[in-house]
Amino acid sequence: MYKSLQQHLQKSLAEIEKAGLYKNERIITSPQDAEITLEDGRRALNFCANNYLGLSNHPQLIKAAYEGMKHHGFGMSSVRFICGTQDLHMLLEKKIAAFFGTEDTILYAACFDANGGVFEPLLTAEDAIISDALNHASIIDGVRLCKAKRYRYKNADMQDLEEKLIEAQAQRFRIIVTDAVFSMDGNVAPMDKIVALADRYDAIVMIDECHSAGVVGKTGRGVTELFDLRGRVEIITGTLGKAFGGAIGGFTTGKKEIIDMLRQRSRPYLFSNSLPPMIVSAGIRMVEMMSETNELQDQLHRNTAYFYDRMKSVGFDIKPTESAIVPIMLYDARLSQDFAAALLEEGVYVIGFYFPVVPKGEARIRVQLSAAHTLSHLDRAVAAFQKVGRSLGVL
Ligand SMILES: *Cc1c(COP(=O)(O)O)cnc(C)c1O
Repeated sequence: MYKSLQQHLQKSLAEIEKAGLYKNERIITSPQDAEITLEDGRRALNFCANNYLGLSNHPQLIKAAYEGMKHHGFGMSSVRFICGTQDLHMLLEKKIAAFFGTEDTILYAACFDANGGVFEPLLTAEDAIISDALNHASIIDGVRLCKAKRYRYKNADMQDLEEKLIEAQAQRFRIIVTDAVFSMDGNVAPMDKIVALADRYDAIVMIDECHSAGVVGKTGRGVTELFDLRGRVEIITGTLGKAFGGAIGGFTTGKKEIIDMLRQRSRPYLFSNSLPPMIVSAGIRMVEMMSETNELQDQLHRNTAYFYDRMKSVGFDIKPTESAIVPIMLYDARLSQDFAAALLEEGVYVIGFYFPVVPKGEARIRVQLSAAHTLSHLDRAVAAFQKVGRSLGVL
């Protein structure tokens, strides 16, 4: 049997490669940071990690992880409801709820699981999920696992959302779900308008704060802070794998009864292992750090503004950003790949994205800023962009 499957796979893999869509993984031999070491020993400035606050290799989190392991052990060997809940898990859940101004929190192994396990326990075939067309794959999968009727509205298009809400009046409960920051453009969902529409058409709202938690809003509390909507959004999901430390872990935070029901019925929570003490302990320290000082968020906002302005002033075409994601528009797919390769030769690591990850003819380099970048890192990156831009005829 395997022979025929093997041939089929070989053929499909060759097609992926031929289409230029084969994903090769670049090997890093240093910790994740603003500056990394590649396999061949070269150093590169890193502008493609979700390490927004520079916490991936932060001494305070490493220390907290050690402490967690020392006092609470290495692993839990259990799901939460059997014997996988430590005092640490409860404390982190409380702290995340306090950070977002919500009622309760439930932890998951990843936000992929949080999104995958949120719809099915809450909604049935009688209900409606109204989802932004550019929502993350994990939301799409979560929607697929639920029997509710599905509606999809064009990215951040409020007229289309309103039309879908009108159609969905036939259903019992309605939920609008959106990424808070869209990862390819760096734009923020218009949450003020979404919440107003939810009020008008009797829907609840769920947002995925993966790219916005720790980043967006004056103190990094995400889009509910940016739009002054604390307590007005019923469900927030997020990750500990991006700004919030960069290791692994996810959460859903929001209304008490929703979180209670997820603890009873959410399958990735019930049937997957509890987060290890070191991750939870570092998570607690992370939320404490963010509540004690706004230093890292301020640094990130300064870095993003500086890089954006410098790149604009040397002549690049950049989409306006509302996050720490800065899309440098090149439009041509081939050019985006050549540009990224040439930048690596200059010691700057970025990724070029093209169709089908972004619309056809909208290829780009996605730059992600970090609080760990220094002014000198930023200047070196702009100089490299300028040099490559000239040599490839972009500037
Ligand atoms: C990264 C991301 C996820 C997945 O988070 P993990 O914790 O890595 O599973 C989910 N949603 C969005 C919008 C993301 O950007």
